[in-house]
Amino acid sequence: MDLNLTANEKKFRDEFRTWLNVNVPPAWRGAITSENRVDHVAYLRKWQRTLFDGGWAGISWPKEYGGRGAALMEQAIFQEELALADAPHLIGTIGLSLVGPTIIALGTPKQKQRYLPPILSGDEIWCQGFSEPNAGSDLAAVGTKAIRDSDDFIVNGQKIWTSFADIAKYCLLLVRTDFEAPKHKGITCLLVDMNTPGISVRPLRQMTGDAGFNEVFFSNVRVPVTNVLGQINNGWTTAITALMNERANLGTGIQVLFKRNLNALIARTRAMGRSGNPLVRQKLAQAYLELEILRLNTNRALTSLSKSGVPGAEGSIQKLYWSEMNQRTQQIAQEILGPYGQLTDFDDGLWQYAFLRSRGNTIEAGTSEIQRNIIAERVLGLPRGN
Ligand SMILES: Cc1cc2nc3c(=O)[nH]c(=O)nc-3n(C[C@H](O)[C@H](O)[C@H](O)COP(=O)(O)OP(=O)(O)OC[C@H]3O[C@@H](n4cnc5c(N)ncnc54)[C@H](O)[C@@H]3O)c2cc1C
Repeated sequence: MDLNLTANEKKFRDEFRTWLNVNVPPAWRGAITSENRVDHVAYLRKWQRTLFDGGWAGISWPKEYGGRGAALMEQAIFQEELALADAPHLIGTIGLSLVGPTIIALGTPKQKQRYLPPILSGDEIWCQGFSEPNAGSDLAAVGTKAIRDSDDFIVNGQKIWTSFADIAKYCLLLVRTDFEAPKHKGITCLLVDMNTPGISVRPLRQMTGDAGFNEVFFSNVRVPVTNVLGQINNGWTTAITALMNERANLGTGIQVLFKRNLNALIARTRAMGRSGNPLVRQKLAQAYLELEILRLNTNRALTSLSKSGVPGAEGSIQKLYWSEMNQRTQQIAQEILGPYGQLTDFDDGLWQYAFLRSRGNTIEAGTSEIQRNIIAERVLGLPRGN
């Protein structure tokens, strides 16, 4: 891959940089808790709306759906510039990185027209209803039932760990529709309005103090058959498309958060007079290098995606890397800051929050063990374990 920017890419970068100079809001700092969650969500929604109004949402999405129709390399430049400008991340990330690309790939023209524009503007936040108490890594074991009744499915069951379900307007829901077929073949993917009667959401408070994910219960919930994404009983294909997009795209978006976090750590280390210590300098240099590796690998993944058109199993390399990298970086932060890193009133609890939140990184979007299995089997071509 060529890492030098073309004239057009430079033009794109400069235009966005100029826009960011004027539009980036003062940063939200510190821990996100159940108490300030509403304010934080409102702040991020407003930021996504500002980007959308400026024509900077959905960089690589087709123009007909409100995107910019730009190449994937420009998507990478976009993320880098957000990070350089210390800009907030995007609240609608599940819609932008997972649901939107899956609807673009598999949706009907009507579904594309209806659902894609509000994902970009942040008007409609999505959640991903895949995991269940007995179906996590083994996602094909989903047991939430959808039984056909004329033009509707009637859904009963439970999802768990559903991020953003408390603020989501829609859910990308995996359900079982054929109870006789082998487990991968009886699944369907539905686009579900979270305001439909029969849905209840119960927030689950994490060890960070934030209730970022939820339990979601479905009791005789009617979902029109027209809301099937992909084909009935072929939802496994839809789910894999969504998961591969999630793994490929999440790595690009999450860099913004990591870069901001590392910049804050470097600034804090300096302010505490600890930046002259050679051991501290080595640790920070290591964290900086690892973040650079993430950036370069993201560009490599985007180059391969732009050639093939679909994200591949290589997205698992990214997911495995950034999740374990962030845990190492947060460990470094704790070592440098000492007891201050554990205080909720030091830097508004940022370091304590970031350390505790990073533990979930190697579980969400598929655990490290599962990513290693995928890399072994589908990237390296090794035989299946077990
Ligand atoms: C912060 C966070 C946000 C999340 N958000 C969402 C969301 O929005 N929507 C959603 O649907 N889900 C979400 N999840 C759920 C997440 O996808 C699951 O937790 C994850 O897939 C693991 O499933 P599980 O928890 O059932 O663990 P299990 O699958 O029960 O795994 C338990 C342990 O066994 C290991 N293991 C399992 N199978 C294998 C195997 N074949 N080989 C080797 N080791 C194995 C796992 O790696 C793990 O260590 C979220 C999770 C977290 C932590």
